[in-house]
Amino acid sequence: MSIFTCRADFLPFSPPSVSPLEISEMTAAVKSGWWAKGPRTQQFEEAFAAYTGAKYAVGVNSCTAALHIALIAAGVRSGDEVITTPYTFCSTVNTILHVGATPVFVDIDPDTGLMDPRLAEAAITPRTKAIVPVHFSGMACDLDALYALADRHGLFVSEDAAHAVETRYKGKRIGGGAPGAVSFSFYATKNLATGEGGMLCTDRKDIAERARMLASHGMSAGAWNRYGKGGAWRYEVEEPGFKYNMFDLQAALGLAQLERMPQLQADRLAAAAVYDKAFAGMPQLALQENPAYSTHSRHLYVLRLRPEALAIDRDQFIQELAARNIGASVHFIPVHLLHAYQRRYGFKPGDFPLAEAFFAQEISMPLHAGLSAADAAYVTEAVRDIVAAHLADI
Ligand SMILES: *Cc1c(COP(=O)(O)O)cnc(C)c1O
Repeated sequence: MSIFTCRADFLPFSPPSVSPLEISEMTAAVKSGWWAKGPRTQQFEEAFAAYTGAKYAVGVNSCTAALHIALIAAGVRSGDEVITTPYTFCSTVNTILHVGATPVFVDIDPDTGLMDPRLAEAAITPRTKAIVPVHFSGMACDLDALYALADRHGLFVSEDAAHAVETRYKGKRIGGGAPGAVSFSFYATKNLATGEGGMLCTDRKDIAERARMLASHGMSAGAWNRYGKGGAWRYEVEEPGFKYNMFDLQAALGLAQLERMPQLQADRLAAAAVYDKAFAGMPQLALQENPAYSTHSRHLYVLRLRPEALAIDRDQFIQELAARNIGASVHFIPVHLLHAYQRRYGFKPGDFPLAEAFFAQEISMPLHAGLSAADAAYVTEAVRDIVAAHLADI
């Protein structure tokens, strides 16, 4: 008999971590009167570049914006093909469409959920201009293989690092030393949150300078300070750009979160370790394989159901979690299954079977820095309770 007791309050999936530091930094930014892009944005860019080891960091208002201007800065345009994964958020793909290029999907490695570099190689045509790998859930893609491939074929690599704040590839933080562009997200659910926000990191001066210009309407450098002391009112527009820049209220939160990152990350890893310990011993569940070359930022805790061992599907499992006051999610609905892309490109179910199988079994468990060991233990008990009540008859 189950002795499971449902908790009274809801356990949310991934709220941001608020401490007195976020509040004091935000208050100071508001009081300073400099609310738009200004000194705090610059300070956060410098701090984030130092943290990742990148030569350049350009603050933007989302990861989506960073992905978009990275492709433009790399010269990707109408008629080009860009290789990416269907196992991502729609914005990875939208930004490829917005430069007029065609997304070319390749299926995933079924054990990790990451882009398979061999399939990427097989998808290259004379029109291929770039590869957009996604460091899904917080594990790095096989970057040596992808950059070697890019070198051989003259392609640009634009890494979607929305999940990869804190991820290390062969010991080095993602974002540092990148010959391509690396786009981070600071959306409210991400490991480092500013509500909305993002950062483009690169070691290429030309990419950084063009991205910075494109993010501020295409205005010449320094125009952000045209209302400040010593600022000049005259500016030039070098090319029609976008309103994509980060602003100082976002940067205030970013500075606080970056300072707290070691503790935030330690807390996140501790909660994930409670899950690992409980789930590793359950034959009805499968965990992600972690390639030896990468650490895991634990942005997402990816749990997969083994359909043959359970008399319940993924959607029902999530309902059972919700009935026990646990917020879970799914990452991702493969992009080729979404209407807009099906209409445009004729994608259909079955086109990327490994991504579809991963999706059918995947549950992202609640995980954030504020998830206590007791909360994590409660979730593991709920999972045990659901599994025990829904074993397949074999
Ligand atoms: C969150 C996310 C994005 C978009 O980030 P925004 O900052 O909201 O634009 C892009 N790619 C992936 C994989 C994401 O999870």
